[in-house]
Amino acid sequence: MSAQAGDALTNASFALDVVRSLEPIRGRLLADGVPLELSTVGHAWGFKDRTVFSDRRGPQPGDVALRVEPGAVLRRLYRVLATYPGEPEIAYAVNQRSWIEQPAGSFRNTVVFEPFIEIPPRPYVETLQRFNADFEAGFNFRGKFLDELGRGERVLEVLLGSPLVGELPPAPSNVAIAEDRRSRRVRTTQQLTRPSNAAFRAKVFHAQRDAEGRIACSACDVTDEDLLEAAHIIDEGYADDEWWNGLPMCRNHHRLFDLGKLRLHPETGAWTARRYSGADSHITKPDVGSLLRAPSAAALQWKWDSDA
Ligand SMILES: [Zn+2]
Repeated sequence: MSAQAGDALTNASFALDVVRSLEPIRGRLLADGVPLELSTVGHAWGFKDRTVFSDRRGPQPGDVALRVEPGAVLRRLYRVLATYPGEPEIAYAVNQRSWIEQPAGSFRNTVVFEPFIEIPPRPYVETLQRFNADFEAGFNFRGKFLDELGRGERVLEVLLGSPLVGELPPAPSNVAIAEDRRSRRVRTTQQLTRPSNAAFRAKVFHAQRDAEGRIACSACDVTDEDLLEAAHIIDEGYADDEWWNGLPMCRNHHRLFDLGKLRLHPETGAWTARRYSGADSHITKPDVGSLLRAPSAAALQWKWDSDA
């Protein structure tokens, strides 16, 4: 359908800011592990082949997307809950109108998002202009996403990591930790870390990235960001996903740390490797003294105790 500009803005607002029932795909969401309390609200969008911040591998659960639109008062980040490649009919079923699809029949996939973080308009626009001086918020039916502005992970890091004013505060002395600690036996049989937690990674990396823009594994000298991840100190889901609960780590050391084979003393900050010599564990740093910011001492104590 053709639409006047005013209609288009109204439609965009409707598409992004109205809570939709996902009842038609409730069963599919549950089967994909989307929590029950999230299965009745959210957004399902149809997508062409490449329209989401995702490092070009296709959107994955946990990825974060940002839609650029000037008409809406709120500007939000959205988190991917589930993806259905090759099934645009799911988006049609939920949206019940196809006006947003241009041209008709061009959608290839369904991606289900949840509204995630609201960003005040001014910092949002200024931040994006740091990546592209010519950036202007502008209505775009297809949506513009972070990866059109530069490496999406870096844009997200700046958006989520920067305090709106002043310096990043130090780690809090008191940390709320969920009471029902799982036993080590249970923990090691579960997947400890989600494959994609872009927002947590962005916060941890922002806190620990040096003035030259470099970041390294907390236990070795790996600096390639394709190999670096954000490791939770207190297990994911048991404390806030804030920078002070994370360590930048290479994939190998992240795995060993999750399994309790690599331990970090909460008082000295020294690494110890269980069942490994220092050489076998490929640790090249004696401790985490080189980190730019000290993570939460309470979090480190929790991790030490629960790995004992
Ligand atoms: Zn490492």
